[in-house]
Amino acid sequence: MKRLAVSADGPAAWESWRDAFARVAPDLPTISWFDPAFDPADASYALVWEPPVGEMARMANMRVILSTGAGVNHLVNRPDFPADVPLVRMGGDQTAVLMADYVMWAAIGLLRGARRWARDQEKHLWCNRPILRNSAETRVGVLGFGNLGAAVARRLAATGFIVSAWCRTPREEKQIPLFFGEEGLSDFLPSVDILVNLLPSTPHTRHIIDAELLSRLKPGADFINVGRGDHVVEDDLLAALASGQLDSAVLDVVATEPLSAESPLWDHPRITLTPHMASEASREAQAAYVAHVIRELEEGRAPPLLYRPDRGY
Ligand code: NDP
Repeated sequence: MKRLAVSADGPAAWESWRDAFARVAPDLPTISWFDPAFDPADASYALVWEPPVGEMARMANMRVILSTGAGVNHLVNRPDFPADVPLVRMGGDQTAVLMADYVMWAAIGLLRGARRWARDQEKHLWCNRPILRNSAETRVGVLGFGNLGAAVARRLAATGFIVSAWCRTPREEKQIPLFFGEEGLSDFLPSVDILVNLLPSTPHTRHIIDAELLSRLKPGADFINVGRGDHVVEDDLLAALASGQLDSAVLDVVATEPLSAESPLWDHPRITLTPHMASEASREAQAAYVAHVIRELEEGRAPPLLYRPDRGY
């Protein structure tokens, strides 16, 4: 039985998921996880984002759990996560293109001082500032060269930025210079003008962006965080902005979401905030990707974006 039970985004989202699956995968049987008549024994697959507390334990007999997010740290760290059930992360072209669009927007905005222009306009200030660098003179360093990091790096390079990336596993890569592991990080950081974080949140990467790492960037570098908020020591980020070691930051993710009303990040003149929406594909695109993964699984193929507990991502 290849039925998919949809829990993602709660009971209110069920009808829009049902309609999306009906449009893109009419042959895939679906049911709401919250349907009073639903019995977990009647489904093989569950689609989740942040299921209610305790609910994941009821997914222990699923063949596979699929996440509507590419980051799954919030699921695998829960006490009710059934560790024996394979977990597949969200992928698909639209997710990668949206992320590349966002980072392009953020990088160009940083280059041209978009936040300063917006603030000047609010104050009716006509203030012409010199442009320090163009894209061809700017090195973007991407932390993470996975599904999204690689898509972002390739798009930035195609647009004319100088790009390098850092990841864990040594390998050949023709287009983007790659740096690996701790030693590679020391070579990677000092030439970076704009640092982009696209790492997964794992015990090894949590709080990786701290005062020490920031001090190794070029003085006056910029920072774009599209990974997870817990990668960053927020006090260290604010201190680096205050000292001028960092010029500006664009943050799509923060340690506590939604950001508390009292956070100093809201009003910082050199921080641009967006509400964790860098790369949220449409319902149809997500449903099409999920249906594709289920087809692959039913035909005995392993999906590429399988969470690996040994690596933590
Ligand atoms: P992948 O798992 O495909 O890629 C992760 C990359 O990080 C890999 O290149 C991996 O190295 C590298 N990496 C992991 N651990 C380490 C480490 N300890 N040291 C060095 N490199 C490391 O993930 P995705 O590209 O799909 O997604 C990345 C993250 O983006 C997600 O985990 C999530 O946090 C975030 N995200 C944010 C969204 C938003 O809207 N803001 C939306 C979607 C995702 P290697 O290649 O060697 O395995």
